[in-house]
Amino acid sequence: MKYHIQTFGCQMNVYDTKSMMGLLNGAGHEYTDNLAEAEMILLNTCSIREGAEQRVRGRIGQLKRYKDKGRLRFLGVCGCMGQKEGARLTDAVPYLDLVIGPGAIGSIARLVEELERGNRPLVDITGIEDEYDQPFPAPNEAVSYPCFVSVMKGCNKKCTFCVVPSTRGPERSRDPRIILQEVETLVQKGYKEITLIGQTINSYRYDGIRFPQLLERVNQIPGLARLRFTTSYPSTSIRALFEVMASLDKVCEQLHLPVQSGSNRILKAMRRTYTREEYLNQVRYFRSLYEGRALPPAITTDIIVGFPGETEEDFQQTLDLVREVRFDAAFMFKYSPRPGTVAAAMINQVDEYTKSRRLDTLLQLQHEIAGEMNRNLTGSRVEVMIERSTPSSQGGMEYESRMRTGRIVKLSAPAGAYSPGDLVQVLLTGCTSYTLFGDPLSSGESTQGGLKIHVA
Ligand code: SF4
Repeated sequence: MKYHIQTFGCQMNVYDTKSMMGLLNGAGHEYTDNLAEAEMILLNTCSIREGAEQRVRGRIGQLKRYKDKGRLRFLGVCGCMGQKEGARLTDAVPYLDLVIGPGAIGSIARLVEELERGNRPLVDITGIEDEYDQPFPAPNEAVSYPCFVSVMKGCNKKCTFCVVPSTRGPERSRDPRIILQEVETLVQKGYKEITLIGQTINSYRYDGIRFPQLLERVNQIPGLARLRFTTSYPSTSIRALFEVMASLDKVCEQLHLPVQSGSNRILKAMRRTYTREEYLNQVRYFRSLYEGRALPPAITTDIIVGFPGETEEDFQQTLDLVREVRFDAAFMFKYSPRPGTVAAAMINQVDEYTKSRRLDTLLQLQHEIAGEMNRNLTGSRVEVMIERSTPSSQGGMEYESRMRTGRIVKLSAPAGAYSPGDLVQVLLTGCTSYTLFGDPLSSGESTQGGLKIHVA
């Protein structure tokens, strides 16, 4: 059967989609990008904000026409919204055939068999223990970045704004042997860079192995050139991870450390377990480990504005923190009340106008900081890894690549000059706030660590 999966939301959903593709392809089904020829369409959904759910509901409505035409046999909702809504979705939308939570993705091939036997609608939101302790087969597709490998699922934290603990369940760490096997398979398929993912990845723990030790083991895999990970929670024990991270050659100099707010009062209301001062100390310590290197490490973050009870003074403290840290990038959102969370029931909600105004102010500040940082980088020689290419309007190809710090660098070169995964030395020649432009330093080649590298 030809199928299509549309993915909404976070890296975990991207990983889950690839896992489902691997399982469905293994069962003889075939992925298609063409909706008109798909016999099954799955929406892998997100519940983190109201807007994300509204987009999915709109999409379900749009897809009805494919059902009406008769070619589309099965329409399904997977992921966090499936887990949260369950049978309410199939009750409300009679043409939905399948609703599953993230815990059931390992059963996707069996569930499709049941649909083919005429068993519909199917709802599976019971399992948080799926076939997670198996390496998921990678779908047979061309190498495409970023490439995620999940090391843990779920979350034991209790942030008052977040639905993840209820949609993805408590923390479950994967057996490190399974993780290593999955990474090795991807490297054999041609991947040079892997991003390890988990909701609070520094909570990883399996039979006495903590995340720093896991990182050391993955770092040793031959053929792997770069290793990233996300998301770290700013917990008191994170310094040991920073130290290991700075000592490993393949681990990129990029840390995603969500702060959420610069106000201790709001951090407490969010039930984040650190203070503004502790967060700033972690940032200072992390940066100190890279002193003397050619480029400073990158730090990115998540920030919510307009959390219930947030005053102008609280918001100013967030702006001050952003000015002090100077994040390389920040994912900034207006607070969105999620049903069933503690914060949604708080009576001191901030009005939409104020939330929008604060978000605009924060976006503008971060835009200026990111622009300044990029301008300071121009003139530097850096190593980038090619991720993808598109035909350039001036002829030839425009290659999109990434520095070790995660910054995007675009470069022009003839078609076929590079392939995804090639490491290229470039001179940074210009920028916008969010993109750098570079010139390859030469077309010569040498090898470094057994990997093909284009060098000056
Ligand atoms: S740490 Fe907090 S925000 Fe992150 S997934 Fe867990 S509960 Fe949600």
